[in-house]
Parts: sequence; C-alpha cells; structure tokens
Amino acid sequence: MRITGAAKVAGVVGWPVAHSLSPLIHNAWIEALGLDAAYVPFAVPPERFESFVEACRFVLVGLNVTLPHKQRALELAAGWTAAVYAQAANLLTFDEGEVSADNTDAEGLLAAFAEQAAEWRADVGPVVVIGAGGAARAAVGALSDAGAPEVRVVARRKEAATELAEMNWCDMPVRSYGFDNLSSALSGATAVINATSAGLNGAGELPDMAAAPPETVFMDMIYSPLRTAFLEAARVRGHSTVDGLAMLIGQARPSFLAFFGVEPPSAEVVDVRALCLRALGERG
Ligand code: NDP
Repeated sequence: MRITGAAKVAGVVGWPVAHSLSPLIHNAWIEALGLDAAYVPFAVPPERFESFVEACRFVLVGLNVTLPHKQRALELAAGWTAAVYAQAANLLTFDEGEVSADNTDAEGLLAAFAEQAAEWRADVGPVVVIGAGGAARAAVGALSDAGAPEVRVVARRKEAATELAEMNWCDMPVRSYGFDNLSSALSGATAVINATSAGLNGAGELPDMAAAPPETVFMDMIYSPLRTAFLEAARVRGHSTVDGLAMLIGQARPSFLAFFGVEPPSAEVVDVRALCLRALGERG
C-alpha cells in the first residue's frame, strides 16, 4: 500500500466499529488499484459524533456511518439524496467542508438480488419486508425505485410497520402487518427480506415463513452468520436465497466511488467476498 502526504483518507464511524468489514473491503480495493489512499475505522460514542464530523469535514473525503449514528448523520448534512427515504445516512461525503449525506443500502440490496437471484424481478409482484428500522426503510425505498407493485411491511410492533407504511412512497402501496397476520402478508410474495436484527450472531428468531409460495426468494440483511436460521430454513424448503454479505459489498461499491472518484475493481481483480468470508470464519 502506497500512502503519501497527499493521500485521500476515508473511514467508517460507529460505536462499536471493531466488527466492521468495511476497512477490509475498501483497503483491498485501494491496494488493487494502487491508489494513494486509506480507509480507517473510527470508534466514536454518540455524544462525540457531532464534534467528530466537525473535525473531519475539512480533512477526510468522507465517512461510512454505522450504528448508532445513521440518523444523526443525516441531520448534520447540508444536502442529501436517497438518504431521505431511509431517514438515515450510511454515507457522508465532504467537499471543502460541505457535508452531503446519502444512503447506499438501497443500491446494495438490489445489487445483492442481481448477483444471487438474477431471475428475480422487483416489478412482478408484492415484496415482504420484515422490520421497520432504518434498513427496512432503505429496502422499501429501493423497492419503490425498482418499480415494485406493492410492499408489505411486517414488524413485531404493528404500529412501527404502520408508521413506515404511511410515509410517502411515490404512489407505491405499502401495507402494514403484525406477526399475527404473517400468512396474509406472505401470500403471493415474490421475495421476503429480513431487515431486522433477529438472527444477528444467532440471537433472536423470526416466526415460521412456511406459508410463502415455493418461488419466493428469501433475503437476509444479516451476514454474521452468513447462513442465518432464516435463510437456512428457506433453503431447506427449496427457496432461492440472497445473503447480507452481497448487500454489504453492494453498498460499499457506490461509497468507494463517492470517496475516491473511481469505480472499485471487479471481483475477478480482487475477491473481497472471499476476504470477508475468511474474516468471518465462513467457508462460503
Ligand atoms: P434498527 O435498529 O434501525 O432496526 C431494527 C429492526 O429490527 C426494528 O424494526 C426492530 O424492532 C427489529 N427487531 C430487532 N430484534 C427483533 C426480533 N428479535 N424480532 C423481530 N424484530 C426485531 O436497525 P437497522 O434497520 O439499521 O438494521 C437492521 C439489520 O440489518 C441489522 O442486523 C443490520 O446489521 C442489518 N443491515 C445490514 C446491512 C448490509 O449491508 N448487509 C446494511 C444495513 C443493515 P423493534 O423496533 O420492535 O425493536
């Protein structure tokens, strides 16, 4: 790796951040392209987030933002794009001190489907999103952009699903369901997306999804473990599946372009998925 005094520096800010795979992904791309650049993790507690961004905005080219700072990041920006949908930003870019926010999770989600379930089309039928947090909002935004005819949001707190459904989704009908009405939500679904933290590191469980039609594609945003109980149960029932690592790499690509002004190299040049699987202790 070549780093001079003129290097472009970006990073990821979270609390905690030690688990983040973003430094591994971005630095592998930087190295493969021979850029004069670096990507660094920053562990910053919530009460210091604002002063941290203030200090960085004239120094770094940008930051990826992870929990718990995603909402505050949006509030600190002077301008934003897709981040509005999600009401949360996972990307801040700095241009001579001007802070812009974006959310590349939506792009990452669609890239993951394109990579692992290429036959699936968003515009063919209803899609079920489980959860009502920032990632669920990004998923509904992605599906709206991709022309989904209907999205059904299912959450353990029905009122959270209803709140999400009542946001402005540009004429796309979004209906809300509680877990007690899951089988109606699953009826005719072309895909079911887990956007909750249930299953993260094996903790928490979602209800049984056996009522989904056989052709439904199952996607889990969680990538640790890679094969969550949610995806494994779907696989055993014969469904196609899409994993959260494909989404993580999919959301990193537009971030890299925003930071360094060049597209990251292809998987043939550097296989960041293999690097991540090794770091996660997974076999792939
Ligand atoms: P939030 O905290 O904003 O939302 C979490 C959601 O999960 C809430 O709706 C919460 O419900 C629900 N939830 C938590 N535990 C359970 C449970 N046991 N059963 C049912 N629902 C549950 O988090 P995010 O939306 O930002 O992230 C959600 C998940 O997506 C995380 O695991 C995150 O790591 C992952 N993610 C992955 C990405 C990727 O690139 N692969 C990108 C972004 C997110 P309640 O409000 O009732 O607590």
